[in-house]
Amino acid sequence: MPCLSDKGCRQQMPENSDLYYLQAFADDLALVTFGRTRKILETNTNNALDLISQELNILNLDISIDKCQALAELAAINFAAGWALERNVKIKVFSDSKSSIEAIRSPKVKSNFVLSVKDNMYNDKNLVSLVWVKAHAGNPGNELADHFAKIASSCGADMSIPAPYSYVKRVCKEFLMNERNSYWKNSTTGKRTKEILPSANLDLLISNKYVIYLFTNHGPFPAYLCRFKILNNPDCLCGEHGDVDHYLTSCMYTKDYHLLLPTGTARTHWTRKLCKNYLFLNRLKSIFEISRKICDLQRL
Ligand SMILES: [Zn+2]
Repeated sequence: MPCLSDKGCRQQMPENSDLYYLQAFADDLALVTFGRTRKILETNTNNALDLISQELNILNLDISIDKCQALAELAAINFAAGWALERNVKIKVFSDSKSSIEAIRSPKVKSNFVLSVKDNMYNDKNLVSLVWVKAHAGNPGNELADHFAKIASSCGADMSIPAPYSYVKRVCKEFLMNERNSYWKNSTTGKRTKEILPSANLDLLISNKYVIYLFTNHGPFPAYLCRFKILNNPDCLCGEHGDVDHYLTSCMYTKDYHLLLPTGTARTHWTRKLCKNYLFLNRLKSIFEISRKICDLQRL
């Protein structure tokens, strides 16, 4: 991140704690966070990023993915190449950004911005050559570049660089998940499903129809089919109310496969764990095949 100086960060962010440590250099920023699990790590990282964002607001600086270090380095290389081509002079660009050099050399890059930099670089490759140098290693040219980057961080001009595809993809995904979750939270239907799945979760994308029967109570059950007038009677052949829980726990026709259903939050955990268990899915299949046969018999 080129627009934040070491001095500014050290002065403005003395809150480094057991959970995160922040170090800003002239033209980049390192954030170290800790967490025993992925979720804790994500939470700590988000908290630290929130803090950085607040501090940047106070400093009147802007952090944006458009200006992340690799893109800023690429923009600088691009500028140098344009300068050389314009004047028709041969130059050697020394960069400490391995990722930028690799991006220019890689045949797999998709970013339009990187592709345009590559085009400019290869326009006349005899004029511009690229060399990697180790950062913060006392190299006079590199130190001078850092020095100017530091000055530019406080009085440099803004530059607009398009956001990378991966960033747009992440933003769209987050937006859709938030939209879905706020719809789900405010919806008054799907009470049973909501108890099991309180919020949308990409880890639980379900394609197994038996699990969907279990979550929704929508399936081959007399109580459900009666609502749509497909069956005249909502009760099972055994005389009890024929919904999904009846077949899972108490119907005499499915007694070989009965399950003990936990309640409340334990049920959420139980269902999530079991819906990936092969033996459990087979058991569900057997139960719902019987309930389907009962529905077929009632239609006759
Ligand atoms: Zn029954």
